Amino acid sequence: MRIRAEVNCMSCGRFLGDLEGETKTRIDKSWLRPSDTPVRFTKRGLFCGRCGGRALVEHIDKVYVAA
Ligand SMILES: [Zn+2]
Repeated sequence: MRIRAEVNCMSCGRFLGDLEGETKTRIDKSWLRPSDTPVRFTKRGLFCGRCGGRALVEHIDKVYVAA
């Protein structure tokens, strides 16, 4: 299954980008379609590249691929 989600910073509220990928694989940098604000990937999760705040992944949607 393919999912898509929005990533926002919990601290400063900046939009950090979209994530899209297969649920079979772990979320990593290849999932990210970045915005102007950089995102830091660490072992503890995703963080805002501007303020260092924790990134919040929300609006997770299933992506249906037309057969
Ligand atoms: Zn931030």
